[in-house]
Amino acid sequence: MHRIRIVLVGPQHPGNIGAAARAMKTMGLTDMRLVAPERYPHVDASTMAVGADDVLAAALVLPVLAEAVADCGLVLGCTARSRYVSVPGYDAAQAAHLLVEQAGRAPVALLFGRERTGLSNEELAQCHGAVHIPAVAEFSSLNLAAAVQVLSYEVRRAVLRRGESEPLRPEPDGEPDEQPGVHDELEQLFVHLEKALHAIDFYKSRPSQVVMQRLRRLFQRARPTRRELRIVHGILADAERMARLARDKV
Ligand code: SAH
Repeated sequence: MHRIRIVLVGPQHPGNIGAAARAMKTMGLTDMRLVAPERYPHVDASTMAVGADDVLAAALVLPVLAEAVADCGLVLGCTARSRYVSVPGYDAAQAAHLLVEQAGRAPVALLFGRERTGLSNEELAQCHGAVHIPAVAEFSSLNLAAAVQVLSYEVRRAVLRRGESEPLRPEPDGEPDEQPGVHDELEQLFVHLEKALHAIDFYKSRPSQVVMQRLRRLFQRARPTRRELRIVHGILADAERMARLARDKV
């Protein structure tokens, strides 16, 4: 459970931060991160945490999302909107199962968005998948802390189903190079890809964001290992070098 992280992105009401900490603790989750909270620390957060002050006190506050999930092997984003999003979709139970299964390898994260506007498209694009609690379509947006409660409960159920006598361990095939790259490593690949595709003039007149969004999906789905990531970096570096040579010749 300590490898399953709850990340609140830009929470606006401090009371919700406290209530989320309490929701987590009731289900055995303790790792909370706050990305650019609007008002925090705040007395309302402590009031609503009642008894989960330890979770709140240990919560790291970070300026940007990337820092909160840099070491995570799997990142899922919760969204009240069931409309098509650019990443694969899961319901709460499926997401919980996936998180518990993957937490044996590396930390995993579950993101929650702002009360008013949720997660931005750019933030969702940084996730391996989107999680939707299938509420009624006409009124599908839960209170932030209520959404944290539902997901924390599903995580707890997934752990109980696995059997608590069977603690999560790193996979036996734990050679680091053969493990999927973590969030930060994948983001570094996307930076390199975007740059290399510019260098070889791949985009032509197309907007680079559209291509990059599809490539993001491809790599997030494939979950390349560190060794595979190095190969792709190598290919990109060679492509950049060839493009430079070709330009110098002209
Ligand atoms: N008006 C916002 C709703 C924000 S609710 C919007 O349209 O997105 C605050 C956060 O709670 C959301 O960003 C999401 O992370 C979570 N949440 C609320 N309802 C949810 C639902 N039905 N399924 C999954 N997450 C939900």
